[in-house]
Amino acid sequence: MQKLKDAILTRGKAINQDVLLVDAFLNHQIDPALMRDVGEAFARHFAGGGYDRVATIESSGIAPAVFTALAMQLPLVVLKKQTSRIMTGELLQTTVRSFTKGTEYQLTVKRDFLREGEKVLLIDDFLASGEAAFGVLRLCEQAGAQVGGVGIVIEKAFQAGRKRLDDLGLDVLSLARVRSMSPGRIDFLD
Ligand code: 5GP
Repeated sequence: MQKLKDAILTRGKAINQDVLLVDAFLNHQIDPALMRDVGEAFARHFAGGGYDRVATIESSGIAPAVFTALAMQLPLVVLKKQTSRIMTGELLQTTVRSFTKGTEYQLTVKRDFLREGEKVLLIDDFLASGEAAFGVLRLCEQAGAQVGGVGIVIEKAFQAGRKRLDDLGLDVLSLARVRSMSPGRIDFLD
């Protein structure tokens, strides 16, 4: 998606060879028009896939996931990285290692919001090692639901996540695939 690549090149910043800062348009300040286009691009690709629900992980996946769910007319569930006292009812949880923080968190969802038999479309901001996506796969399995597709805004193609998801036979669409990067330089795969 050219508009997204342009945003990455002009407003993104490679901090080093592994971490891309996109806080100017994706996960701190948000560009709503770009996120709407991102959501519509996902909706075009995944339309007709028989999805029952969109799922994302708080907080950076929410903006692209809302526009995807809106365009596909599907409910959206936000998987939480933290529980709270007001999160009552039966909870499903799995431990995920955070790529950016280097720590672990409990990915959590109310069972009511992820139902048995549902086909789930996962939307997230980044794909790196695939740990977050595999956490979502495990939660869906616990719920008796199944992830059928994964929409990623920015894939770091030099990390392991894409291959791990492809190996499962999932329909994976990344709107921008970063081949390599270093401070001052970002190269895309296609
Ligand atoms: P993974 O679990 O695939 O290793 O990493 C995915 C998660 O880590 C994403 O949901 C995203 O929040 C975060 N992440 C991974 N790489 C980057 C990056 O280069 N920049 C930013 N801003 N977040 C990242």
